Amino acid sequence: MPRGPENPGTCAYCGKVITKRSVSKHLVKCSKWQETLVAAETSSQPVETLWHLRVQDAYDKDFWLVLEMRGQTPLAKLDDYLRAIWLECCGHLSEFTIGGWGGIRVGKSRKANSTFGPGLVLRHLYDFGTTSETDIKVVGFREGKATSKHPIALLARNRMPEMVCQECEQPASWLCLECLYEVDEPGMWFLCDEHVKEHPHNEYGEPIALVNSPRLGMCGYTGPAEPPY
Ligand SMILES: [Zn+2]
Ligand SMILES: [Zn+2]
Ligand SMILES: [Zn+2]
Ligand SMILES: [Zn+2]
Repeated sequence: MPRGPENPGTCAYCGKVITKRSVSKHLVKCSKWQETLVAAETSSQPVETLWHLRVQDAYDKDFWLVLEMRGQTPLAKLDDYLRAIWLECCGHLSEFTIGGWGGIRVGKSRKANSTFGPGLVLRHLYDFGTTSETDIKVVGFREGKATSKHPIALLARNRMPEMVCQECEQPASWLCLECLYEVDEPGMWFLCDEHVKEHPHNEYGEPIALVNSPRLGMCGYTGPAEPPY
């Protein structure tokens, strides 16, 4: 839905507010990230290729992540990461593709190094019924040591999109599923802490708390939308 200018995010290292396109430029200047890299170079980790990925919901560009993925990591670990931070509701099937539905399937045992190259875009499909579609674009790589023992590191993430209450236009923190499914007008689905109390709808259950995920309100998804590590 249109929400004005692009939704910015924050650097996971210094907390600075940045746009999705300025993440790479920011990291070069980010003293916290640079310190982290220097510390990593003294570790016993191997030198390897680390891929920088821009992840975004295919239909709602307000939701985006920038990740660093180790070259020897299979795509299954990226699937796990996306499930944890954005998608997992009831253990649905998922797959990576080039081209989305009807495109080329890319197996989850494939490693980052044998899959990624400059400009590649994978589309990840989660749940073949109420599908969440996520684009993963390769925006760069570095040769060096990983900053942690985990296969993936979060470099930046969108800020929670600001929604307003359908009643009073104050900041909202709840989503009414009945409004979402039955009211056609975008944006008239949200409620503030006050107006959620007297909201009459419960056809699809009680209103759910807003979390920072593009899957909110799809299938049974209610969060927590937290990174796995
Ligand atoms: Zn920073
Ligand atoms: Zn589900
Ligand atoms: Zn309100
Ligand atoms: Zn409602």
